Amino acid sequence: MIELSHIEKRFGDNVILKDISLLIPEGTVTALVGPSGGGKSTLLRCINLLEIPTAGTISIGGETATFLPGKKPTWQDIQKIRRQTGMVFQNFQLFPHQTAIGNVMEGLTTVLRWPQDKARARAVELLTKVGMAHKMDAWPSTLSGGQQQRVAIARALAPSPRVLLCDEPTSALDPELAAEVVDVLGKLANEGTTMVMATHDLRLASKIANNVVFLEAGNIVETGSSRSIFGSPAQERTRQFISTLN
Ligand code: ATP
Ligand code: MG
Repeated sequence: MIELSHIEKRFGDNVILKDISLLIPEGTVTALVGPSGGGKSTLLRCINLLEIPTAGTISIGGETATFLPGKKPTWQDIQKIRRQTGMVFQNFQLFPHQTAIGNVMEGLTTVLRWPQDKARARAVELLTKVGMAHKMDAWPSTLSGGQQQRVAIARALAPSPRVLLCDEPTSALDPELAAEVVDVLGKLANEGTTMVMATHDLRLASKIANNVVFLEAGNIVETGSSRSIFGSPAQERTRQFISTLN
């Protein structure tokens, strides 16, 4: 279970996330949707503490950290939460000077200090899962965007995080390549991977999300099952937004 409780994020005087509370059950996929600037990326970055919330509590996998205005969390507090998460970015962000398998092994050998053989076996397993085993020795610059993103997904999953966070995982891709990535994410969802993803891609959200959170101007307007939010949203504002995407 991931529990976000009263998360607030300010940048200076701007309150970007306002009292966000969310429960994300293990094994579910949650899509964050809403207009640009609503705070989707900021919320994902707060879950893995790339941004430090100004206030609130985050619990993931039995680890909890509480944030208070003006109080810096310790490195240990940040690490214990961050280690529960894996992150996939819109623009892949592979290490350019490492091969595909090198990218997947990197965190295992440097951060977790796994021996090379064990890290390599794990990387091969994950590259196979995302359909990239045949390209394991390729450099990122020689891969298509969809292939790079699939390697990035394998890299994020390598240390077995409790939750995979994806920020617009398909939006830099042509539809055909986006479909490859949707297929991989769908497969992971079917295997019970817990995911939270920000997306403008309704096809992605409706295909794999169990739950949808509609976020606007730093507030949760509505949450519900994918079926109810896309089928019959309770809030007029959600209805309007969904209709602009169709
Ligand atoms: P999009 O759909 O365009 O990706 P989003 O919902 O992901 O939008 P965020 O990127 O989370 O929105 O941005 C929310 C707000 O926070 C925006 O007004 C943005 O300008 C502001 N913001 C984000 N990061 C910072 C930062 N580091 N410093 C100041 N303001 C920021
Ligand atoms: Mg964003």
